[in-house]
Amino acid sequence: MKRKPLLLILCATFVLAPIASAFADFDTPVIKKWTVKEKNDKGVEVDVQYMSIDGVTVHETDPAKCPPPPVITPGTESRPDKPGAAPSDAIVLFDGKDLSNWTSTEKDVPTKWIVKNGALISTKKSGYIRSKQEFGSCQLHVEWATPKEAAGDGQGRGNSGVFLMGMYEVQVLDSYDNATYPDGQAGALYGRKAPLVNACRKPGEWQSYDIVFHRPIFKDGAVVKRATFTVFQNGVLIHDHTELSGGNGWLGPHAVTDYEPHGDKGPIQLQDHGNPVLFRNIWIRELKD
Ligand code: MG
Repeated sequence: MKRKPLLLILCATFVLAPIASAFADFDTPVIKKWTVKEKNDKGVEVDVQYMSIDGVTVHETDPAKCPPPPVITPGTESRPDKPGAAPSDAIVLFDGKDLSNWTSTEKDVPTKWIVKNGALISTKKSGYIRSKQEFGSCQLHVEWATPKEAAGDGQGRGNSGVFLMGMYEVQVLDSYDNATYPDGQAGALYGRKAPLVNACRKPGEWQSYDIVFHRPIFKDGAVVKRATFTVFQNGVLIHDHTELSGGNGWLGPHAVTDYEPHGDKGPIQLQDHGNPVLFRNIWIRELKD
């Protein structure tokens, strides 16, 4: 009978604790607390509580101990007739002028996408287009508009896509009064997760995606940290730190790809799905994993 508490303690220490820590997906901060006797503005000695988080005291003003965040100039809002400006620390991938930051996904083949009236547009059988620069975890801003004449239905109406690392697709589709499977409508992490709401504007109107993407991490051929997406469509939250359960390449009508180990960076890619979807005002800010 006396052995039971000891058994429980051993079980908690050597079995449950390691399991719990294996499932914790956050870094635990080192928090310290202490009290100092200080005189207040009336000259009365009082106990003042102090606390530090990872060695930095709360409300620290010494820039050597707590550097102030870099000052940047924020961008401006887009209007239907005029795209906004990117934040000053963003890498501008497309500002309506040219294709200098883009190339075909086929090696040594120039892209057939064109720039017209400040928009990036796929042409017939032009294939995917990709950014020349590659990125991992990032904040990505993209604006898009599906054709004003809503031709076709389901996946055949205004289909394109924004691919992070060249493979993780946030679906672009005319989902304004156009039924399809929810995990393939506009804003879906294709085949994996439907958006929280349908925040689509009418065909022909400019829409925006603001995507916060954290890349997956692989170790010894297996994923050890899944990709996450937080996405705003037209300012509305449609993915709230959604963990991508696997890859999301099309494998057939009812299956998508699994995670396959890959490098730390990949291109931003836009899909040619046979519909002339327009893109404008594309900028990106690199993030830490
Ligand atoms: Mg698509």
